[in-house]
Amino acid sequence: MLILGGSSEAAALARRIAGEPEIEATLSLAGATASPAPAPIPLRIGGFGGAVGLAAYLQSERIDAAVDATHPFASRMSMNAVAACRQAGVALVVFTRPPWPREPGDLWTEVGTVEEAADALGERPRTAFLTQGRRQLAAFARAPQHRYVVRAIDPPAEIELVPNCKLILARGPFMLANELKLMQRERIDALIAKNSGGSATYAKIEAARMLGIEVVMLRRPPAQEAETLDDLDAVMAWIASHRPPP
Ligand code: NAP
Repeated sequence: MLILGGSSEAAALARRIAGEPEIEATLSLAGATASPAPAPIPLRIGGFGGAVGLAAYLQSERIDAAVDATHPFASRMSMNAVAACRQAGVALVVFTRPPWPREPGDLWTEVGTVEEAADALGERPRTAFLTQGRRQLAAFARAPQHRYVVRAIDPPAEIELVPNCKLILARGPFMLANELKLMQRERIDALIAKNSGGSATYAKIEAARMLGIEVVMLRRPPAQEAETLDDLDAVMAWIASHRPPP
């Protein structure tokens, strides 16, 4: 098995597989964070070299089936997985979480790109909490009238390009009480977030709702044409049904 990771779903799947000695699986990470959490199964780190490189890996490692458990915004890896598995004749399932639905009291402005998110902040100077990830921070250089609070796991390469910016280094999951405290202390009046889904980063969305703060929400990239599951037991059943004959 190959598990494409980088998400809490992948971590949960790896923990479950670690307790199933008859499943031989490798967890693959991009190497996006400097010190990833320890893995309970064999780990490989780094890109494959596009869809062609992944197809070659699937063949050389004699992979029977693959689970794409990357983050829902990791669209390049997911596209490559579909193409490579098709080329190598390897069964593929996507393990992901549904997006967060808009709840009563949510003040969401939905956008498709980070540039649109920067524009959605408007002309009036505001304090925006950027939680959308380390990449594409440079997009906020186009809106220097605002003050920015950036949260990331490691210092982002583009941080110098964000005007009036304070960096907070932290790794989720985040608790509601702490998100409320942070947003009040920093006088946040807009939150930029990806619609990641799941519970690990939902507290900021709840905190924004409780404080009446606008959320500029990045919509998900289009889903892949592959079987998709959002439940760990269902993924384990899928793995069992794709086990090679003894
Ligand atoms: P991406 O744009 O879809 O992928 C960029 C490249 O990184 C891929 O083409 C691939 O390189 C390599 N890559 C990505 N995931 C990999 C994996 N699991 N194993 C080996 N190589 C991988 O992805 P991204 O948005 O940069 O995200 C990178 C990683 O961080 C992903 O694993 C994702 O699950 C995780 N993550 C992403 C986000 C997010 O918001 N995007 C949030 C949390 C975690 P090659 O083409 O050379 O194979």
